Amino acid sequence: MRVHHLDCGTMCPIAGRLMGGDRLLGRGLMVCHCLLIETARDGLVLVDTGFSTADCDQPSRLGRGFRAVTAPRLARAQTAVEQVRSLRLDPADVRHLIVTHMDLDHAGGIADFPRATVHLHRRELEAARARSTLQEKQRYLPQQWEQHASWNPVSESGDTWLGLPAVQKLAGLDADIGLVPLHGHTRGHSGVVVRTDRGWILHAGDAYFHHMELVDPPSAPVGLRVFQSAMQMNGVARHASQAVLRRLHREHPEVRILSAHDPAELVSATYRAVG
Ligand SMILES: [Zn+2]
Repeated sequence: MRVHHLDCGTMCPIAGRLMGGDRLLGRGLMVCHCLLIETARDGLVLVDTGFSTADCDQPSRLGRGFRAVTAPRLARAQTAVEQVRSLRLDPADVRHLIVTHMDLDHAGGIADFPRATVHLHRRELEAARARSTLQEKQRYLPQQWEQHASWNPVSESGDTWLGLPAVQKLAGLDADIGLVPLHGHTRGHSGVVVRTDRGWILHAGDAYFHHMELVDPPSAPVGLRVFQSAMQMNGVARHASQAVLRRLHREHPEVRILSAHDPAELVSATYRAVG
């Protein structure tokens, strides 16, 4: 098994240092950290999908507000499908997509892999299809994924994993890849655990945004804290999810925990070549 760490959607949010950037008045930096996994029997597996080629060609569909706040670069070369090609791999071999949640910066790339099966928490798929609040109408964009045919919504009935409840190993995959409920950011937001040759990775999506949120006491640039609170669907659940991650980090430091948007974690993971 080989794991590639990809940024499938760099964003340069406003408010610079408050969002983790170097300069107070400059722009911050956020990545869309995706995992491309070369498996022995399951072909290529992509964890989170970033933006699609269609998003790059037609940025307006992402909405003016989202683009104003996050300033996504939307370069075609950054899309997952183009990065698969750059690695001299075949996009048709991407058979499985696993999304932590369906926010527009995580689900966009689904459209570029029309034959793959999308695995996600059942609650998240239902929320994305229902779009029952104004905020969910803005964060979930059906034009990114409504044409997609193959879905595998997963419920909570699995085993425990390192003390985390209800890990569901994904049906149809031979590799040890499972979904861990980490709700709060969205209704069905989940993490993805992957057993690699060099140990476990937990892709925690947007359950946290900054690596200092994994340590006790947690901290993060104030802008990221405000942003997370503004985007949460359930604050109690989100804080509980972060507590679970802090305990895992404390008790099992060998597990590489990743957030979707922390650029420092992406650099660290890339240079250590996990997997
Ligand atoms: Zn996100």
